[in-house]
Amino acid sequence: MITSVIFDWGGTLTPWHTIEPLEAWLAAVGDPPAAARLHEAENAMWLRCRDEQRSATLDEVFAQAGIAHTEQMLAAFHAWWEPHTMLDPDAIGLFTALHERGIKVGVLSNTIWPRSVHEQIFVRDEVAHLIDGAVYTSEIPWTKPHPEAFRSALAAVEVDDPAGTVFVGDRCSTTSTVPLR
Ligand SMILES: [Mg+2]
Repeated sequence: MITSVIFDWGGTLTPWHTIEPLEAWLAAVGDPPAAARLHEAENAMWLRCRDEQRSATLDEVFAQAGIAHTEQMLAAFHAWWEPHTMLDPDAIGLFTALHERGIKVGVLSNTIWPRSVHEQIFVRDEVAHLIDGAVYTSEIPWTKPHPEAFRSALAAVEVDDPAGTVFVGDRCSTTSTVPLR
């Protein structure tokens, strides 16, 4: 018996977009060499996530690139990303239908962004109240597919039995140039 469904976010709850992450960094800092350093640092983080299932944060990316970030930089970075963060139009109906069947809805995202950014996105998309629990790997030491990442997500939706949980995602690995969100 299925009691919970846990979803990936990027490419699963958001329609897949092919993007160039370097452009987000350029929007954030304006300076091409600095953007290139941030892009390189982010790629290294995503490789670590993929190969060692160790998570990373935006702060780490900036530190690795040797750039002291400002609120303005972060705002410009997330503003660049915004068109690529829109919820799939079918998601609200799907979450509602799962709840009607007594099935919990969770989210487990490999992400370097802070929880606050993801929560604002779910509020904007009017779906925050339909999510029973969420884990953003920027807050834990591990990334999918490490078992501890999935255990954290099960705890977030308060489910004891993994056998009653389905995970829905768009892929299980990534390349060095495409974020694994
Ligand atoms: Mg994904």
